[in-house]
Amino acid sequence: MAAQKPGVIALFDVDGTLTAPRKVATPGMLTFMQELRKVVTVGVVGGSDLIKISEQLGNTVTNDYDYVFSENGLVAHKEGKLVGTQSLKSFLGEEKLKEFINFTLHYIADLDIPIKRGTFIEFRSGMLNVSPIGRNCSQEERDEFERYDKVQNIRPKMVSVLREKFAHFNLTFSIGGQISFDVFPQGWDKTYCLRYLDDFNEIHFFGDKTYKGGNDHEIYESERTIGHTVTSPDDTVKQCKSLFLEN
Ligand SMILES: [Mg+2]
Repeated sequence: MAAQKPGVIALFDVDGTLTAPRKVATPGMLTFMQELRKVVTVGVVGGSDLIKISEQLGNTVTNDYDYVFSENGLVAHKEGKLVGTQSLKSFLGEEKLKEFINFTLHYIADLDIPIKRGTFIEFRSGMLNVSPIGRNCSQEERDEFERYDKVQNIRPKMVSVLREKFAHFNLTFSIGGQISFDVFPQGWDKTYCLRYLDDFNEIHFFGDKTYKGGNDHEIYESERTIGHTVTSPDDTVKQCKSLFLEN
């Protein structure tokens, strides 16, 4: 049997790269990954938590790959074992976290927008999700807020205030979806997982959202990686065959 090439790793985004968007990986893809693993070390890195990644790649995911990085690597598994965790709470500490949350809630309280609902800040392990209207609005209210925001720039204005006020916290603000924006420490994108890969001098990264603003952009552009843009799971297989399996 061929051995894994030393110093080389093939690292894959999950959603849109190994699976169709928000879908489960096909049996053919899972088999292909195990074939690939015979010749090269294989890792996966997804923005979702391990539960969601397990739904897409199978319950044995941490044993099926050499490295599994969930939440961009804030939770890291190597050869089936948990090797690292990081959270917003331990990174910022309770005092800074409280300062940020208090200011944000005051800002929302003073914001004059047509309607407000509940859950203005959702606390996740690696980020805060902030919504001026509140996350538990209805779909119709969501659509309405999105239209309103496009004209009034509620989110961009709020982000620019927070960015300036908390410049010393080194945070990144990312406006996505219809009603909210994410707040997380700088560098907590997919490049976060690279700290676990110092043993590799050739890191091939495959992702579908490698364009500027996409969630694969930073790791794709990183000096530490050789970036590959894929258009679908089939394209991922095709590119891997020609890179690792033919010759
Ligand atoms: Mg993707």
